[in-house]
Amino acid sequence: MKPYIQQTQQPAGDSASFIKTGGRFANACVFLKTMFLFCLALCVSGGAWGKETVTFSSLKEKARHGDINAQYYLGLIYTFGSEKAVEKNAPEIDETVDKDNERAAFWLDRAARSGIKGAQYLLGVHYGIGEKGEKDGDKALYWLEKSLNSGGKLQDTFASELISRLKKEGCSADDAKTCSECDGTGHLSRRPCDNPYCKNGTLVSSPITFMNGRPCGICSGTGYITPKCKECDGLGVPKIHSSIECSTCDGTGYLPRQRCTNPNCQNGMVKGPFGMAPCGTCFGTGYCTPKCKDCDGTGISDDD
Ligand SMILES: [Zn+2]
Ligand SMILES: [Zn+2]
Ligand SMILES: [Zn+2]
Ligand SMILES: [Zn+2]
Repeated sequence: MKPYIQQTQQPAGDSASFIKTGGRFANACVFLKTMFLFCLALCVSGGAWGKETVTFSSLKEKARHGDINAQYYLGLIYTFGSEKAVEKNAPEIDETVDKDNERAAFWLDRAARSGIKGAQYLLGVHYGIGEKGEKDGDKALYWLEKSLNSGGKLQDTFASELISRLKKEGCSADDAKTCSECDGTGHLSRRPCDNPYCKNGTLVSSPITFMNGRPCGICSGTGYITPKCKECDGLGVPKIHSSIECSTCDGTGYLPRQRCTNPNCQNGMVKGPFGMAPCGTCFGTGYCTPKCKDCDGTGISDDD
């Protein structure tokens, strides 16, 4: 294993990762990295598609549009290269694709957030190795803990072993919650309800008169909403970003919120044959968040 030899020849105190992690990783760093590489090479639990051959472009298209298995397979392909990935149960594809750590981490992160155990495990290992990506023992621990009970005996054994080593190093899964948008809480600060007819949680002077006096459905009658943080999907652990994300919409898939584009819409309501009714364009909110056309609302523009 080359990286092992290279690292033993450097004084540990000089490495950038030593400074970055405040020394926590340094002493056992070489040993841990070897462990992580070993656990990366040996196992990863299976996929869902069987052994069919698919085109690489269709796989990328599915992943872009949110197919979590396709996202996981892309993660496998970019982690191991397309040929080796087949041994890890990725489908055979019509192109030869080389390893790409940046894309591997990006797609594994997306699949891991949707609960795919194999992706959570590999992402934990990626953070543990830190090759061409962010090295972070806390995040490694966070994802490895999520990956447990995968049904893959070998994978769970390796994950448990890595977890106990990381804990001995002083790593903490709670310290992985560093999302700057929400301070790691997973939600944004509480704000008054968006519904223009909601007064402290009760509907007032709504054009749908029989609804007045009833609790507002948007805020469940509380008068406030606490939006989930989109940057971390409510987990508190920031997403991995990549250069393949669309620059027009910053990877969100949507353009900034604007007033409803329907000219007949008044605060979310339109005149209909039976009186006022919720506007179909903005679903009664009075606002629209237009889909980004450059990436078809997917947030990703991978032109390779
Ligand atoms: Zn409300
Ligand atoms: Zn957040
Ligand atoms: Zn876009
Ligand atoms: Zn509208």
